[in-house]
This record gives sequence, C-alpha cells and structure tokens, in this order.
Amino acid sequence: MLVMKFGGSSVGDAKCFAQVVQIVQEAYAKDREIVVVVSAMSGVTNKLIACAQAAARGEHETYQRIKAELLSRHLETVAALELDPKIRLDVCSLIEDRLYDLERWCRSVAILRELTPRGLDLISSLGERLSVAMLAGALSTAGLKSQPVEATSLVVTDDNFGEATPLMDETQARVQATLVPMLRRGCIPVVTGFMGATKEGVITTLGRGGSDYTAAILGAVLKADEIQIWTDVDGILTADPRIVPEAQTLPEVTFREAAELSYFGAKVLHPKTVMPAAELGIPLRIVNTFNHKHPGTLLVHTLSSANSAAKAVTQIKDLSLITVEGRGMLGVPGIAARTFAAVARRGVNVLMISQSSSEQNICFVVPAARSQTVLASLRQELELEIARRNVERISSVDDVAIMAVIGSGMCHTPGMAGRIFTALGAEGINILAVAQGSSDCNLSVVISRQDADNATRAIHRDVLMPVRSE
Ligand code: ASP
Ligand code: MG
Repeated sequence: MLVMKFGGSSVGDAKCFAQVVQIVQEAYAKDREIVVVVSAMSGVTNKLIACAQAAARGEHETYQRIKAELLSRHLETVAALELDPKIRLDVCSLIEDRLYDLERWCRSVAILRELTPRGLDLISSLGERLSVAMLAGALSTAGLKSQPVEATSLVVTDDNFGEATPLMDETQARVQATLVPMLRRGCIPVVTGFMGATKEGVITTLGRGGSDYTAAILGAVLKADEIQIWTDVDGILTADPRIVPEAQTLPEVTFREAAELSYFGAKVLHPKTVMPAAELGIPLRIVNTFNHKHPGTLLVHTLSSANSAAKAVTQIKDLSLITVEGRGMLGVPGIAARTFAAVARRGVNVLMISQSSSEQNICFVVPAARSQTVLASLRQELELEIARRNVERISSVDDVAIMAVIGSGMCHTPGMAGRIFTALGAEGINILAVAQGSSDCNLSVVISRQDADNATRAIHRDVLMPVRSE
C-alpha cells in the first residue's frame, strides 16, 4: 500500500501531469494498491486567496479577472493533456462549473464586504478539486482505473477554519468505507490534498501546504507501507544549495531531525504534517517528480546507519539577540518566567534561549522586526527591578542569525562542539551565544548576520563533509 502525494509544482502544466502519470504507472506495476493525493496546480491557491480578498474589498473586476485566468489556465492544460474525448468533456464541464461557483461565491463576498474564515476555506480549496479531476482523467486515459475523490467525504476535521485538525477516528471509518473498496478493485483514488470537512460537511482546510498533511493522515489510517511526497527537489539536503552549491542529498533522516531542520528555517516538511506518519513509524520518502530515478530522502523513526553525528546545517536570518542582565538577578526566582511572559504577551516567538550559569543574564533570540516591541515590554515588566538596579541592562543586538547544526548523534559524539567552534574560529567568526538545550540533535550558535553564509559554508566543508566520510 502506497500513498503518493504530488505537490503543486508536480502538476504545474500538462507536461508535469504526463510525468506524474508515468510515475504512477510505474508504481502501480509494482504495488497494486495506490492512493494518490494531489495539490492545486502551482500558484493556484495563492490566486484563489487573492480572488477572495479582492472580493472582500468589493473589487469585482479583480476577482473576475483572476477567475478568467484560472479558467483559461486549467482549460488549456486539459487541452494539452489529450484526454479520452468523453473524459475530457466531463473534466471541462467540471472546471467550468466550479469556476462559475467561484464567481458566485466571490460576488456574495463582495456584496457583504466580508470574508469569513469559513468562506475563505471554501474558496481556497477549489484548486485541489480541479486538479483531482484532471489527474484522474489523465490516469484513466493512460489505461489505469482511477477515480477523483473530494476529501470532504473522507477527511473529517474540527471547525478551526484555515488550520483544521483531523478527527482520526471518524476519518478512519470514512476511509475504510470508501477508499478500501476502491483499492480492492484495483482502482486508484485521486484525493484532494489540503481540504477536509466537518462532521456536518462544511469544507475546511488543513493550513497552507496542507496536502502533505492529507497524505500523512491517509497513510496513517491505511497503515501504508510508505508515504511518498513527490516534489521538485531530490530530497532533504545537507545545506541550502543557494548558499552551499556542493550540498548533497541525505539518504536517510529521522523525523526528529527533519522537524529540527524545518524549525531552523530549512524548507522541508512541516513537523505537524508528518506527525500522523511519524507516530506510527510509517516511512515517508521525499522524491523528485523531475528526477524520479533518484531515491530521494527517507524519513524514518530510527536510522539504519550510525553515521548521524552531524548531518545538515541551516540558518535563520533577520533576528535579534535580546539580553537581560544584572548582578541582582542572581538567585532571584521568577525573573526568567516574567521575562518570557512579557515576550509572550506581545505574541512574539522566541527561537532560542540561553542563560549563563552565573544567572546574571538571560539572552534569547526573536525576529528582528519585533525587537523594539520586546524591549518595551521587558522594560515595563521589569520596571521595579530596574529601579532597584537588580536588572542593570536590557539590550538588543540586531542583525544576527542563528546557524543550527543538526544530527541525532550530535550530543553523544564527543568533540562535535569543538569541531564546530574550530571551524568558525578559523574563519574569524565571532560567536555571540550558543544553545544545545532545545533538543539533543541540534547545536545552535548566534552569529552576526553578515557572517551567516560564510559560517554555513565553513561548517559544511570542515565538519559535515568530513563526518559523512568517516
Ligand atoms: N494548495 C495548498 C497550498 O498551496 C496545499 C498544498 O499545496 O499543499 O497551500
Ligand atoms: Mg502548494
């Protein structure tokens, strides 16, 4: 049993669709039970959201123009797909009907001048409903038995519109009743990613990029042998190739390492979206639609090889390092709690924390755009301590970056930190703060933003590559 998810760039135009058909055909020859999950064509979800927002501003011309663009893009793609004539007729009328619906919905939004989260989900999930019909049509034309499935009848969620949470038991029952019989018949269901519905049948979405989530949910309830995420890169890389051109694809990564990488800015799967698969230990493979012979990266629970001391390096820029310091903070309980409460009250995300053991300072990293807000909030919260001189200084260093080195063996391998610091030292890069606490599979350093790319290259060259070949 295989779940294969194709993202927006994998169905960007007719040529891409043809590529996907070939990949599914090859997989079907080996594994007769396949569920396909598909996203909207690339850029379509953004356009649908823009359409809804234009309607909310009362801009009739704008939403009509976007609707017309979407209509011609989808119809042109269908024309180029050379579908079986009968299928083609059905697919074209579905596209026309749905986009006519879009126009009606937008007109209502424009009249009311109000776009509710519920209305936005209805509109933004439309792209997936078009692409399933197109892909199922293309698979059928190629001689495979296939059927489009709208996840409204499959993925049951709560009503947290825009970021709904799946109700796994209900979903399990629906999948058992609809998908399993199809699979038994040798039919390939092509399911809309991203969307779900409440128990009452109201359309919801799982959050941007939510098609991966759909694949993991279906893979989990079907206990798939593997979930494949087909995208436009060869898998997870050792570093961002725009910064480190010699970056390499990692054959195997743990779910924890992948989560850590995405937290620290790498464009990999969102940890929440892979959770259903990770919890059941279902392997998940990231593969490239445009280089489909490449094995990609396999995400697993436990690694098969031990070589995991340091695997990848990633960075986040445009951050500020905030420091709260004072000799009077020594042994005074509650300062850290109040510091972070003051930050949280402004809704600011803290990316990394470090406290010296002398307890005379706490430093932490926040997005640079929020640093002034954070400073003001801290000065207000700690007003009394400042007056009493227990807290002597609250300051920020702007223009910093976090560089994180990730690998599940990070903390159990002696000398890793030494190698990292040596590599940075050799480049003359100054380290402003360090943290290993957030997880035992990452070591993060705060450095000046202008050093970030150099630091990343140095770590890749002097630490990661030597470790990989050891
Ligand atoms: N089409 C949706 C989006 O762009 C879902 C996805 O691509 O995964 O967010
Ligand atoms: Mg997308």
